[in-house]
Amino acid sequence: MAQLATGRTGEWEIVIGMEVHAQVIANSKLFSGSATAFGGEANNQVSFVDAAMPGMLPVLNRKCVEQAIRTGLGLNAVINNRSIFARKNYFYADLPQGYQISQYEHPIVGKGVIEIDLEDGTTKEIGITRLHLEQDAGKSMHDQHPTKSYVDLNRSGCALMEIVSEPDIRGADEAVAYLAKLRMILQYLGTCNGNMEEGSMRADVNVSVRKPGDELGTRAEIKNVNSLKAVQMAIDYEVSRQIELIEDGGAVDQETRLWDPAKGVTRSMRSKEDAHDYRYFPDPDLLPLEVANDWIEEVRGTLPELPDQKKHRFMKDYGLSLYDSSVLIAERERADYFETAAKGRDAKLTANWVINELLGILNKNDKDLSESPIAAEQLGGMIALISDDTISGKIAKDVFAIMYETGKDAAAIVEEKGLKQVTDTGAIEKIVDEVIAENPDNVAAYKSGKDKLFGFFVGQVMKKMQGKANPEAVNKLLKDKLS
Ligand code: ADP
Ligand code: MG
Repeated sequence: MAQLATGRTGEWEIVIGMEVHAQVIANSKLFSGSATAFGGEANNQVSFVDAAMPGMLPVLNRKCVEQAIRTGLGLNAVINNRSIFARKNYFYADLPQGYQISQYEHPIVGKGVIEIDLEDGTTKEIGITRLHLEQDAGKSMHDQHPTKSYVDLNRSGCALMEIVSEPDIRGADEAVAYLAKLRMILQYLGTCNGNMEEGSMRADVNVSVRKPGDELGTRAEIKNVNSLKAVQMAIDYEVSRQIELIEDGGAVDQETRLWDPAKGVTRSMRSKEDAHDYRYFPDPDLLPLEVANDWIEEVRGTLPELPDQKKHRFMKDYGLSLYDSSVLIAERERADYFETAAKGRDAKLTANWVINELLGILNKNDKDLSESPIAAEQLGGMIALISDDTISGKIAKDVFAIMYETGKDAAAIVEEKGLKQVTDTGAIEKIVDEVIAENPDNVAAYKSGKDKLFGFFVGQVMKKMQGKANPEAVNKLLKDKLS
């Protein structure tokens, strides 16, 4: 279902295509041996190649190429056996070479497709146009000195993958779903960490509107949208702006706009008239890149199970809902945690505890799953105690809280605090009789039709037994005795 926007003149269709820059996970840069770690002291990870000293020659990093192939395969895309590095010429202080080495007409990865999950539970395919390898630029810093700008070249020459989508995305929700799924795939593959705050993954969003059924409208490209929230807001703003503009008799300029998160608006950065002419040409320092099929197949053999495969397997093998599966596969580590905890145990119950209790409390304490004081095997141990009736679900919440505090095993806590559930019907019956004897008025009221009082009796029995009575046994005995 396409998402439509409404203007004065009726409905408009939103058309979006995305260009995502993803920083490749590799120890060294695309064409030099310098380190790529984030956050190092400025200009400490810069070789002569990265600083563009005269006469320096680029040497292609095999690892980066492998990561691009791996990503291409994860995007169900064609891997091209031959691709060409080209110089994209422009001048900027953070680009000492005066050009960026990129790929232009012949990228390493061609057409592919990814599946996105929509809110209504359906899925949709978004076409991938291409993926190419290129160098990142350095970083200009304008806020370090009142009158000077500084340049940090640590990022200069790091490998980027530019992943371009077809204009198949309809609306902000689909754009967010696309980015989220793309990020997930890259993280599963281990080819990009997907960290948008650190700028390891950056999105340019191309937006246009048209009357349903019309030809594609003129697009504006929005740069600098660096979170899922910003993507949502920038698109909403841009769509309204374009509709208003056209409905007032104007026309959308094909231009580059910047998202201003502080003001919540997009504004023009450069228009078509001063659009760059990059004068691309094949880099004479680099041979065409030849990738043999053997290598592609070798990489294919090392691909992990990807998010969509995992999602479908969780639904099929564990009987989980689409929602639960989607939550669990959102991070590879989370899916692994669940599978370890659920091994040999009630999978649906385990999914509930992971999603509702564990993720809930971690989120409340601003912690990552990797920092969880409860290991997967420990949570599984607690689930086993619920399943074999050693503890009730209610007591389990207390046990869980203590596990979270102390990191101890559930069994040890149950032993230590004497939380073992009482299933001995004789012992429960004794208490049930006591409660009935102590509350003759309520018994009479219940028998004359005040059904709601049943909960009162359950509560009294539980209170006398410190919550440890088996709830089913309590219910059954009370029903028998009160009828
Ligand atoms: P360029 O090379 O100038 O950036 P491309 O043709 O490669 O242009 O397109 C860049 C991005 O813009 C792609 O993601 C593409 O899907 C998207 N795009 C192209 N036309 C439109 C349009 N009319 N509306 C929205 N997005 C579009
Ligand atoms: Mg572009």
